[in-house]
Amino acid sequence: GKIYPNGTVAVQHANLHVGEGEFLCFVGPSGCGKSTIFNMIAGLTEPTSGHLTVLGTSPKEARKQNEIAFVFQEHTLLPWAKLIDNVTMPLTLRGISKKERITEGERVLELVGLKDYMKVLPRELSGGMKMRVSIARALISRPKLLLMDEPFGALDEITRQTLQNELLNIWEQDKKMSVLFITHNVFESVFLSTKVVVMTPRPGKISDFIDIPFAYPRDDEFRTQPEFGEYVRSVSAVLKH
Ligand code: ADP
Repeated sequence: GKIYPNGTVAVQHANLHVGEGEFLCFVGPSGCGKSTIFNMIAGLTEPTSGHLTVLGTSPKEARKQNEIAFVFQEHTLLPWAKLIDNVTMPLTLRGISKKERITEGERVLELVGLKDYMKVLPRELSGGMKMRVSIARALISRPKLLLMDEPFGALDEITRQTLQNELLNIWEQDKKMSVLFITHNVFESVFLSTKVVVMTPRPGKISDFIDIPFAYPRDDEFRTQPEFGEYVRSVSAVLKH
């Protein structure tokens, strides 16, 4: 649980276990405590009741060991740095050699389809491409836990769906990485996740877990299947309850 110093009860009795390789989407109205839960998992703020562990240790320790990576809706790229320098920044900060940085930078830019843009500056990129760079930078330390706070919220629908497909492809290449993803979009939550976590309005509680039992790879055809629509309806119904 989390009560902020001003008395706001942001999260109450959240009880959650995330397994290796799970993809969980958090849905719920604004202000229900989703970002607060993520910040606690990332060790950026402490719970005021209860406890949590990440990979058997404290969130802060897991972050220090580069086990956790974060992607936000805002791309937070350095405007003056070429893409290769942007994505390798976490390695630069850790004093990793240039040779290794370049190898790893090329690896992650290739993963997001931007290897040909290594020397380009962020301002030359579209919104979707900037988001790809943010994802590449998050993946550079090979995190075991990827936290994504509404990463695709500012993108147009077509770009958003393309990035959803690409994210699933990347995750499927490393099935041990667990992903926690905040979204307001019920379609997105059903398309991406192994499980949807539904939260209630403030004070934030987890009201439901909905398993999404469909196999991966999931492609654009999956979005048109009647079963997909059924799950979208059930998640929406629980949200409105
Ligand atoms: P969500 O991500 O679901 O929109 P948040 O976790 O950002 O929700 O916020 C949950 C509640 O806690 C909201 O009422 C918000 O105003 C409040 N809150 C968030 N951060 C702080 C803070 N640093 N101090 C006080 N209240 C906060």
